[in-house]
Amino acid sequence: MPQNQFDQSASALPQAVLEYATTCDLPTPWATFRLHAFTEAATGKEHLAMALGDFEDGAPVLARMHSECLTGDALFSQRCDCGAQLEASLQMIATEGRGVLLYLRQEGRGIGLLNKLRAYHLQDGGADTVEANQELGFLPDQRNYSLALPMLAHLHITALRLMTNNPRKINALTQLGVNVVERIPLLVQRNTFNSRYLDTKAAKLGHLIKS
Ligand SMILES: [Zn+2]
Repeated sequence: MPQNQFDQSASALPQAVLEYATTCDLPTPWATFRLHAFTEAATGKEHLAMALGDFEDGAPVLARMHSECLTGDALFSQRCDCGAQLEASLQMIATEGRGVLLYLRQEGRGIGLLNKLRAYHLQDGGADTVEANQELGFLPDQRNYSLALPMLAHLHITALRLMTNNPRKINALTQLGVNVVERIPLLVQRNTFNSRYLDTKAAKLGHLIKS
């Protein structure tokens, strides 16, 4: 993985503290998941874990750490690959019959919805996704994966087979003490709107995506 000025140590971020709130069934087109809700007092945000199957045997769990993307996850945006990755990972968990998707409420690689839309505005004028975040005064990626720790502990998950194209995510989780035993690629369709975004993620953020 290339080291550059965009890297920040996961240990430099504050360790997230979550409190478990409740659990319910969540039927989806692919399976009926158990939806576990957690609250983060420091930010007032609610984070979710969609779980399928039993984890008590300790075997590595097929997992996705999905950071919220309102435009991609809920509004069908084609500017990014988030909605397609969300759907593909839930389908893969359902096919395997066992796995977990953590839905982390850190929109726009951690800069929030409005700042993400401001970055989109800059991208409409020609900037790429990394340049736009920097022009707004943010790091290209401000996500804090320590959010995952209390959720994984609550679910008794000790090892992950992680669905991701992002080696930084594996590095961050490993630094936090999470045992990632395997990376499972999560490749989704390119379109005319997300092609440059995917290329920038590959070139500047080290994502393992074919051009
Ligand atoms: Zn997105």
